[in-house]
Amino acid sequence: MPVIRQVHGRQIYDSRGNPTIEVDVVLADGTTGRAAVPSGASTGRYEAVELRDGGRAFGGKGVSRALAHVDGEIQSLLVGMAAEDQAEIDRRLIELDGTANKSRLGANAVLGASLAVARAAAHAQHLPLHRYLAQDGQEATLPVPLLNVLNGGRHADNRLEIQEFLIVPHGFDSFAEALAAGVEVYQALRRELVLIGQRTAVGDEGGFAPDLSDDEEALRLLLQAVERAGYRPGEEVSLALDLAANEMRQGDGYRLNGAVLSAKALISQLADWSERFPLVSIEDPMDEDDTLGWQEVTAALGGRLQLIGDDNFVTSAARLRQGAEDHIANAILIKPNQVGTLTETLTTIRTARELGYGAVVSHRSGDTEDPLIADLTVATGAGQIKTGAPCRQERLAKYNRLLRIAEQVPDAPYAGRLVFSQGR
Ligand code: PGA
Ligand code: ZN
Repeated sequence: MPVIRQVHGRQIYDSRGNPTIEVDVVLADGTTGRAAVPSGASTGRYEAVELRDGGRAFGGKGVSRALAHVDGEIQSLLVGMAAEDQAEIDRRLIELDGTANKSRLGANAVLGASLAVARAAAHAQHLPLHRYLAQDGQEATLPVPLLNVLNGGRHADNRLEIQEFLIVPHGFDSFAEALAAGVEVYQALRRELVLIGQRTAVGDEGGFAPDLSDDEEALRLLLQAVERAGYRPGEEVSLALDLAANEMRQGDGYRLNGAVLSAKALISQLADWSERFPLVSIEDPMDEDDTLGWQEVTAALGGRLQLIGDDNFVTSAARLRQGAEDHIANAILIKPNQVGTLTETLTTIRTARELGYGAVVSHRSGDTEDPLIADLTVATGAGQIKTGAPCRQERLAKYNRLLRIAEQVPDAPYAGRLVFSQGR
């Protein structure tokens, strides 16, 4: 395997028009690898730190300092190393940064380099990335898509407190059929919104952002759209929520539909919805630091719903282990830029499997045309991917990539029934 000759970062723009980083890695024989870094809005306090310039330009979101680290220290470290030594490269990157949260070099700089290295190594071996990443023998699996079709919270300028209302087309034989169902439901939802005189403008992740104020009405609309599109709710297409409850926090409680609810009252509301709607999964039902609330919601609903920890676990294997000890959640959201290297991301997915937790690989609300998480999801057999509505090309880039991968691994199973038929 040829060694790394050059590492170069450039400023590109994400789907919200904010600067972000793209990194090119060039090997001695001219083989290249490229990766881009996404960026969240409802970020957890414990996430690895994006290095931003501050100051006036781009509202403080410039990335020139992070880029200087890519072309400077990071390039100096990596030149001469073998691109296939991903674990060693990531270990050295972490060591070079020297902080617990990658705040010195910037998790954006470190992740861009880490991912671009993997792409270069895959190219050098003439393998599609999903095959290169699966080399530890993991069988490829096509994931269930969790499509965020109605946006609220921080991702939309409406009055919905809940950030994401998702459809989950699990009851199909193939990823292509499942995605097609997701697309049909999305279009049916558009027609429903037009019928009730709502706008069909979309939010950051491509979901509609109608001017609703009642979160339950959003659930009703989704259910109606599933039926109008001709699918069986619960059997073929189910529903999911991401409360992103950090953003609903008010004092000791949570804002919902104009009231402030205690954790207990919020849990009753979620339990009630889970009986009246075909809900299979709820993400971040509690604030990242509300351990007691998390324990209560897990005890109350964890037996029948997937409960995903995002802002509390931040893709950290250590935080996930602590959560498992505390009996919190039964699944984890996987966002490579929350932790900052590919190797740590892979370790966290493996840890989830060991602990019996589900793993849902995810985009960020600010994302790019890079479909890398599609390959990551298939390679690790995570079984679920959350990457927005089938709208806005930075979202479709991942879904479309999965359609292409599905052709390359015709024997790989669709995770649908495996993921959601196990008593949850
Ligand atoms: P973010 O939202 O990318 O803005 O953090 C996604 C999520 O909360 O899952
Ligand atoms: Zn989330």
